[in-house]
Amino acid sequence: MLLLNPGPVVLTERVRQAMLRPDLCHREPEFAELQSRIRENLTKVYDLETDIWTAVLVTGSGTSAMEAMVSSIVPANGNILIIENGVYGERLSKIAAIHNINHSALTHDWDKPINLVRLELTLRDGNFSHVAVVHHETTTGRLNDIDGVARTCKEFGIPLLLDAVSSFGAEDIRFDEWNLAACAATANKCLHAVPGTSFVMVRRDAVKPADTPARTLYLNLASYYDQQEAGGTPFTQSVQTFYALDEALLEFFDAGGWQERRDTYRRLAGQVRKGLKNMGIMPLLNANEISCVLNAYFLPVNVDYPELHDKLKDAGFVIYAGQASLAEVMFRISTMGKISKDDIQRLLDVIADIIDSDGNGV
Ligand SMILES: *Cc1c(COP(=O)(O)O)cnc(C)c1O
Repeated sequence: MLLLNPGPVVLTERVRQAMLRPDLCHREPEFAELQSRIRENLTKVYDLETDIWTAVLVTGSGTSAMEAMVSSIVPANGNILIIENGVYGERLSKIAAIHNINHSALTHDWDKPINLVRLELTLRDGNFSHVAVVHHETTTGRLNDIDGVARTCKEFGIPLLLDAVSSFGAEDIRFDEWNLAACAATANKCLHAVPGTSFVMVRRDAVKPADTPARTLYLNLASYYDQQEAGGTPFTQSVQTFYALDEALLEFFDAGGWQERRDTYRRLAGQVRKGLKNMGIMPLLNANEISCVLNAYFLPVNVDYPELHDKLKDAGFVIYAGQASLAEVMFRISTMGKISKDDIQRLLDVIADIIDSDGNGV
């Protein structure tokens, strides 16, 4: 089965085999070595200075990294502005609400870019300690303009918390220039490892803010940081998914790093976009708004999502639905993971057949 959903991704054999390494206790030095190597290699993905930045690993899906980041970094008297233009921005607000963190939302329609003028006015009127924003909003495939957001936030000296869960490893992330305090990401999207390990890239001077209550036991970033610095872990980590991430990072560097991955994704996504356009299936967003990772498309006339999904699945492809109000009109195709241009050509051929057999020709 070829997974064209935004994670988990189709694995390479190299990563799959890595999970068969020997059983390991998370309190033994071999585990400490594995954990330290992964943390160090994660900082190398964007050439970060390790005296300023570090990676903190948690066992859980990408949302656990988002929740660890937001709940651990905003102090008791902090106030966070959350920029929303999709499901994941809204999830950041839910996290802030659950942990009783002072927050406001700068809302947008899901198909709209971030309005920097409104952002500036909101920051001027408010008294915000942090701004949280999603880099690649997977809801629509939009790559948000973090450059613009960061420039505006810098005017007010406000650091950013970035959800880069579906962009880390494939899009440009300028940690220092953007004044990030932290960035949440995961193993099983652009890094091509398996679900179960996620991580927060965090500035060492931001990981343990003064006057910050421990709002959660399991997702308290400070306790992971302290113990991981000492070679330990507060709780059992998912050893096999660590093995997979360890190998996936080596494979990632061998292939040429994030720029190479972005080029590959762009080629494949471009092939999908062009092929679908030829069939009259139009993308939701313009070419200058999209990530390299995932594109959203309007459903062809007379083919609803369940039919498209099921017929593609019969042919060996899993695509992804639109979320909430977009479910009726959209579908999404991600090109992360071990996917070739021949795979995409087969996908396009099957979609053409589905449209033809329905006799609507769009
Ligand atoms: C996938 C994703 C997440 C995390 O989702 P999980 O189901 O917890 O892995 C968070 N943010 C974005 C932008 C995502 O694409």
